Amino acid sequence: MEMPVFKVGEATITRVEETNVPSYKLRDVFTEMTDAQFSEHRHWLAPHHYEAESGRIRLSVHSWLLKVGGKTILIDSCCGNNKDKPGRPFWHRLNEPYLERLTAAGARPQDIDLVMCTHLHHDHVGWNTQQRDGKWVPTFPNARYVFSKPDVDYFSKVDADPKEGPAELGTFRECVVPILEYGNADLVSGGPYRLNDFIEIDSAPGHSPGHVFFKLESKGQRAAFIGDVWHHLLQVYYPDWNFPKNSDAAQARVSRRKVLDYCASSGALVMPGHVGAPFAGRIEKTADSYRPDFKP
Ligand SMILES: [Zn+2]
Repeated sequence: MEMPVFKVGEATITRVEETNVPSYKLRDVFTEMTDAQFSEHRHWLAPHHYEAESGRIRLSVHSWLLKVGGKTILIDSCCGNNKDKPGRPFWHRLNEPYLERLTAAGARPQDIDLVMCTHLHHDHVGWNTQQRDGKWVPTFPNARYVFSKPDVDYFSKVDADPKEGPAELGTFRECVVPILEYGNADLVSGGPYRLNDFIEIDSAPGHSPGHVFFKLESKGQRAAFIGDVWHHLLQVYYPDWNFPKNSDAAQARVSRRKVLDYCASSGALVMPGHVGAPFAGRIEKTADSYRPDFKP
């Protein structure tokens, strides 16, 4: 499998794929889209962002493997294998050679120094742990895991509520709680928070209460790992369009504009969590909105 590699200053960033398949119907996701808007954009949607035959958007699920300053960092850890995903047949009971791809990208599990989750939804924490002898243990034994404290607090509460739990299809107790119990997690609150010489963590709540994004700077060049601040490039043109499932829809819109403004003004290479090929690109400010510059 081809693995796109991006250079930002002295940093190397490799996309490690779990899946990249048609998922939800475009019209179900963005119910506010008019026929005129669809006509305006359809020329670039297929095949990387939309499957015309089924009317479904293509959603990539991948991690970003970041090597910078001698550190090996994994950003978001996908769904994981063998997990029940009711209502999501495209991610149900996966059996993907994700760890083999990670190794092919230049990092064995034991090489990872940091695992950083933009938020704690089930498709961003799946490979944090693996089941061994009936116990959930860290997949990346030498890594510190960086989690957002507001997300840990929120999903802990959901998980403990018999009416709502288990949180995130069970992945909170399988893929997050064991890391906390092993003492391998570092919790960060709000932002901006400087993690090291290269990375700053900033808040972008709304999709989840503690959603964060990561700003990378190396030798004057920048990148932004934005997780699910937007899922699809249509939301760059229309920043008020939310993807379904938000902890706070209004806050998600405010965060989207904050991150779009940061990306447009800084010239950062944007690395989203689910956008299709070419997977990374830049944002331009227009008179009344924004435009993605993601050239295949
Ligand atoms: Zn996601």
